[in-house]
Amino acid sequence: MATLLKGAAAAAALNERTAAVIEGLKAKGITPALGILRVGERPDDLSYERGAVKRCDALGIAVKKYLLPEDVSQEKLMETIKGINEDAAIHGALIFRPLPKHLDDEAVRQALLPEKDVDGITDGSLLGVFAGVPKGFPPCTAQACMEILEQAGIDPKGKEAVVVGRSLVVGRPAAMLLLQRNATVTICHTRTQDMEGVCRRAQILIVAAGRAGVIGADHVSAGQTVIDVGIHVGEDGKLRGDVDFQAAEPIVEAITPVPGGVGAVTTAVLASHVVEAASRSVRS
Ligand code: NAP
Repeated sequence: MATLLKGAAAAAALNERTAAVIEGLKAKGITPALGILRVGERPDDLSYERGAVKRCDALGIAVKKYLLPEDVSQEKLMETIKGINEDAAIHGALIFRPLPKHLDDEAVRQALLPEKDVDGITDGSLLGVFAGVPKGFPPCTAQACMEILEQAGIDPKGKEAVVVGRSLVVGRPAAMLLLQRNATVTICHTRTQDMEGVCRRAQILIVAAGRAGVIGADHVSAGQTVIDVGIHVGEDGKLRGDVDFQAAEPIVEAITPVPGGVGAVTTAVLASHVVEAASRSVRS
């Protein structure tokens, strides 16, 4: 039976480290603050927002919400982001995307200052991730995968790591974070030949394909650590991942559950990024 890599353990360890940094900031009279910018009321956004606010409240991070109607104009949205950029009391901002179709996502992405970009959406943050320099922040989900590995005591150094998915939100940044930790990294996508063989040779397999159960028994092998980023609601209303858990779990060494895996760590990462942004603002 595989070891279950529960997100709660990684989140708790990270929250403990974050709380210690907050204490130091508060001693200097600084309360870290997160700005949440939401357009409309998508259920996914509302659910993530509830989790983020709960986490921030528990840690003593202030939250200011910027709530705009579904039909907001581009001008009003850009003005709001400018306000966040200029407000020294807001250290980091979370902008929910995808935005309604009439809005220019690219302009929004680039409008936020990288130093406040705690969910890694700007080119500045991506440059930081790709160059391995502390500019902006990696996307929270990609970073959450690293926190799970760290909590499990798995050092990527020298290991063969395979990432399934090449999106800018998860796959590519996760691959870069593994590379920063000296793993030997392969990225798979829909044109990859012999997916099963490539995945099987991984010691660390991170799956962010956005297709329920796409990774099965043929893709995994003994001794592997499998991190499943996918989240899907099945016809039975239950959550499941990109990995067919029933098929993979008996074979691999360790695996994240869905729910209760990567998703359980993202708000802890978000909080840690806000606190790091606040710390950097003191240093600069
Ligand atoms: P995405 O933008 O749809 O990207 C999916 C990637 O997977 C693409 O690069 C695609 O390849 C590749 N892919 C799809 N099917 C494949 C297959 N059969 N074989 C190999 N590669 C395949 O998705 P995303 O935004 O990265 O999200 C990935 C998953 O993570 C989703 O299930 C999403 O719900 C979940 N997610 C979870 C969290 C969390 O907090 N846990 C946060 C964000 C996202 P091509 O580039 O060739 O099309």
